[in-house]
Amino acid sequence: MTLNDSDELVTDQAVARAHATSADGRRMTRSEELRLALADEIVRGVLAPGEALDETQLAHRFKVSRTPVREALRQLAASGLIATRAHRGAVVARPTAEQLNNMFETMAELEAVCAGLAAERMSAAERQALEAIHEELRKLSHLGDPQRFHEMNESFHDAIYAGAHNAHIAEITLATRVRVQPFRRAQFRNLGRLAKSHAEHDRVVVAILRGDRANATKAMREHIELVREEYELYSDSV
Ligand SMILES: [Zn+2]
Repeated sequence: MTLNDSDELVTDQAVARAHATSADGRRMTRSEELRLALADEIVRGVLAPGEALDETQLAHRFKVSRTPVREALRQLAASGLIATRAHRGAVVARPTAEQLNNMFETMAELEAVCAGLAAERMSAAERQALEAIHEELRKLSHLGDPQRFHEMNESFHDAIYAGAHNAHIAEITLATRVRVQPFRRAQFRNLGRLAKSHAEHDRVVVAILRGDRANATKAMREHIELVREEYELYSDSV
């Protein structure tokens, strides 16, 4: 089947919107940039557990004032990546297996609810936009660029949160993602993960496009559970 002109237009607009979202991602605030950079170093083991994080040194290293440093440290503490101790400042932590399980279990259930609702509630335009992002991810999976894949992957999941047409669920799902993000992101460095991720998304997309709530819920839950397993593989390899 070939797309007619108007379908192509919708598709292009969806891709442009997705790019705009990732461009927004690149125009991150200083504290977001800092948070991602530090989260990356902690998850990769560049910064070792127990290592002290000095606000003044970090401000100097990232050429920012201490305010964004403090904000980034506060968010990293929420992810369990750093621990703050009275009189000693922040030190690198690693979330316990139980904390990680709790975060990923919550993430999987919330994303599953969003996908199920999206299957029933997404408009035709939203379904087309989701397909367009999914197609863009297929191309990126061949290019093997983990950073761009990560950004487009967030657009994919954002489209499903929005498609649930429940602002409250979308909000708590996003808030949970901020906490889980360092661990979700790390796994894209695993060999062959991008292609596998795309195959898992495919099951989600097919169910959503069919309006099949039960299977959309199931496919999304399985996707996030696999993300969690991939993180285990990744963290064992660093
Ligand atoms: Zn995904």
